[in-house]
Amino acid sequence: MAHPTDFETRRSRRERSEPRRSSYTEPLPTRRELREAERHGEPREAERHGEPREAERRGPSRRRHSPAVYRRRRIVAGALALALVTGTVAGVVGVVAAIGTALAGGSQATATADAAAPAETVVSGPPRATAIPAPTQSGQAAPPTTSGTTEAGAVTDPCADPAVQQALDGGSDADVIAAAGGAERFRAAIAAGAAPCIDLFEPARSWVVVNKQHALQPIDYAPEQTVWAEGVQRTGTEQMRPDVAAALSQLVGAARADGAGEIGVNSAFRGYDYQAENHDGFVRERGRDDAELTSARPGHSEHQTGLAVDLVACGASCGGIRDFGGTAQAQWVAENAWRYGFIVRYDEGQTEATGYEWEPWHLRYIGTELASAYTEGGYRTLESFFGLPAAPDYPA
Ligand SMILES: [Zn+2]
Repeated sequence: MAHPTDFETRRSRRERSEPRRSSYTEPLPTRRELREAERHGEPREAERHGEPREAERRGPSRRRHSPAVYRRRRIVAGALALALVTGTVAGVVGVVAAIGTALAGGSQATATADAAAPAETVVSGPPRATAIPAPTQSGQAAPPTTSGTTEAGAVTDPCADPAVQQALDGGSDADVIAAAGGAERFRAAIAAGAAPCIDLFEPARSWVVVNKQHALQPIDYAPEQTVWAEGVQRTGTEQMRPDVAAALSQLVGAARADGAGEIGVNSAFRGYDYQAENHDGFVRERGRDDAELTSARPGHSEHQTGLAVDLVACGASCGGIRDFGGTAQAQWVAENAWRYGFIVRYDEGQTEATGYEWEPWHLRYIGTELASAYTEGGYRTLESFFGLPAAPDYPA
């Protein structure tokens, strides 16, 4: 979210409408897309190429006949018996028809058996789509008791696992996610409503969701400790949570090493009272409608968690946040911030979900595990990541 010191540096974003390049806009479908396609009954890529489902491969062996074969045999026997008893023309016709059916059925049965054969025995046909990521994490061969998404796609409750409870009680956020079977299982369980012990609105958690629909609890929450990020230029005085500061120092160093230039921080933690002033300033300056697109009301700002940072690009001097989009630094951030645990929280074209305009400068720290799952899954908002409804407006 924006900061009052950036009024004077604002330029219309519409003037800079060059498309953003992103290394994670993959041509292949994402896991989520594959899952959704499956839910909607669309065959998986492999199935479109004639590869049978796993269940079919494990189905009845070829020695057993399908019910259709038995059905056809009954028809033949019945028709023969009828012909013998009555000796009528109809019976003869019945025999002819039954034999025809049996012959046609025989070839169908052969085709069915071939389709149900293990994939290894198929010598022709299109190659298997091995490069497509599986829609579930079946490749990881997790034990069936592990929480999260199971091989069958079902979601189990991670809270039933004592290790998850233990991590919630005394471990780090990363410990909780690991105990839940990893970020994707953690996410899937939450999105399915199957993780009652995970509170998405607990303000000190890296996974906390703060938006227009969900205020911080308590509404004047402040993080225990805030520090400056070492080795990072700043154009303001605001600090951030120590874990966020460490991650930001790494991010800034990596961008520098990659030749993307210098990244500075303009704004980070802002307390409830300061956010109230900040928001009022925007409303006075721009009118309420415009202000609401870029500035959160107090208690609804991610900046109040200490997990958000507003970045600027620095050369001889640093620009403002609204100069950030379109810079080499912004492009690098869009492509690489997830590696350091950050996401661009108010992404391009997501205003209907987030209630905010595109803010390429506003990063939200969610930790490297969740940020990887977020990026890998092709998510664009934290709301969709956790299966929450869009939050474009404040509650009426
Ligand atoms: Zn911000």
